[in-house]
Amino acid sequence: MSIQSVIPYLYIVASVLFIFALKMLSSAKTARRGNLVSSLGMLLAIVATLLYQGMAFKWILFGAIAGSLVGGTAARRVKMTAMPEMVGLFNGFGGLASLLVGWAEYQSKPQSPTFTIAAIFYAVLIGGVTFSGSVVAYAKLAEKISGKPHIFKGQHIVNGALVAAILLCGIAFTANPAGTYGIFLLIALLALVLGVLSVIPIGGADMPVVISLLNSYSGLAACAAGFVIRNNVLIVAGSLVGASGLILTNIMCKAMNRSLANVLFSGFGSATAATGKGYQGEANPVSPEDAYLILEAAGSVVFVPGYGMAVAQAQHVVRELGELLEANGTEVQYAIHPVAGRMPGHMNVLLAEANVPYEQLVVPEDVNPVMPTVDVAVVIGANDVVNPAAREDETSPLYGMPIINVDEAKTCMVLKRSLNPGFAGVDNPLFFKQNTRMLFGDAKASISAVVAEFKE
Ligand code: NAP
Repeated sequence: MSIQSVIPYLYIVASVLFIFALKMLSSAKTARRGNLVSSLGMLLAIVATLLYQGMAFKWILFGAIAGSLVGGTAARRVKMTAMPEMVGLFNGFGGLASLLVGWAEYQSKPQSPTFTIAAIFYAVLIGGVTFSGSVVAYAKLAEKISGKPHIFKGQHIVNGALVAAILLCGIAFTANPAGTYGIFLLIALLALVLGVLSVIPIGGADMPVVISLLNSYSGLAACAAGFVIRNNVLIVAGSLVGASGLILTNIMCKAMNRSLANVLFSGFGSATAATGKGYQGEANPVSPEDAYLILEAAGSVVFVPGYGMAVAQAQHVVRELGELLEANGTEVQYAIHPVAGRMPGHMNVLLAEANVPYEQLVVPEDVNPVMPTVDVAVVIGANDVVNPAAREDETSPLYGMPIINVDEAKTCMVLKRSLNPGFAGVDNPLFFKQNTRMLFGDAKASISAVVAEFKE
């Protein structure tokens, strides 16, 4: 048995590891192991690929060193709150890599069979859209350009015409690949323009959903690149990324009660798009001392973290407070909304970093039915995901979005710095409810003060 004939078997093992890893990633308990298993699968896939005859090792080494340097620096420098834009940029590079694989294959073998030429077309098209779209998404999230939706008249017509032009070029290119180098370049260029034009009308607010969609595209582009170079593990891995990115996009849209079409075409998330009633009333502020007394007397507490906890980096003190409450005989849980924060799993990552036990994490569907029995719901820098207007006010832009019903707890304590709205720019009547107490200030400072009271 030659080494070459072992490669397909190694690829099968790598693919199976990817699939098992994905399954493990779907539960907080097994997620770390899932990451390890998928890394192992990737290592196996890389080693198997290096066994192919005729590899240009010097270029591979160059790429590996350059990639490791960029990845290592990014992982050290990029703050947790800037993760979404970094993921966005990495997706873009995935798309660019697929585009370049397609281009290189066409350059070296312009007379390839029609199937390969069609795969090259898809790799370049999807890869190009993913690359330029991701760069715009990154620029919007990192505030390098305005996050406002840029909408111009006839935008959908222009985009439609672009897609039609690309498809026509694709037909001409596939019919006569050897004589249409110019058309090939035009396809790549139009794909890049399409990526920009598809993402600029989307508000910065919806960028995380777009990034998840672009992640799915990068998988599809890799899958097409896999067909181009006839690499089975690339086809499998690309399909897995494509499908899981699409599932995640769907979950995020559902959690915001929006359709994908609404996210892509409505221009939501602009400073002016979100409105809602300006709720009137008097908020009940409390001091850390009052907050301590309320919590000290509670039999059950549910923490509801949001974006503000990430900004304040309050996760460690929150865990400390949770432990003090438990030592005091209080039942403690952490309710996590699927779109709390600014990226999928944002709160899970922060709480895991602070070593909050997985068993204490609950999802809205489980905690909402028992919320009326909860003594205190502590909202830590969350706003939209606990806005009762989503349930009660048909005129609210958030109406219909599933929320965590903290207003139904016996007491609701909200930790934030002001009465300002959250990400969607929608006012929140929760702050004026009779059973709500506002603990104003930076979440980390407020919780630290309550912890200090407990320790005294
Ligand atoms: P949010 O609605 O954006 O509210 C966050 C709140 O945190 C703000 O109202 C702010 O109020 C407060 N805050 C900021 N810094 C703080 C600090 N240092 N200390 C204490 N509070 C602080 O957050 P959310 O409830 O987590 O909702 C997430 C939103 O993002 C949803 O609208 C969701 O649809 C959207 N979104 C999320 C994702 C995702 O993947 N997670 C994707 C797309 C969209 P003050 O300024 O008054 O302090």
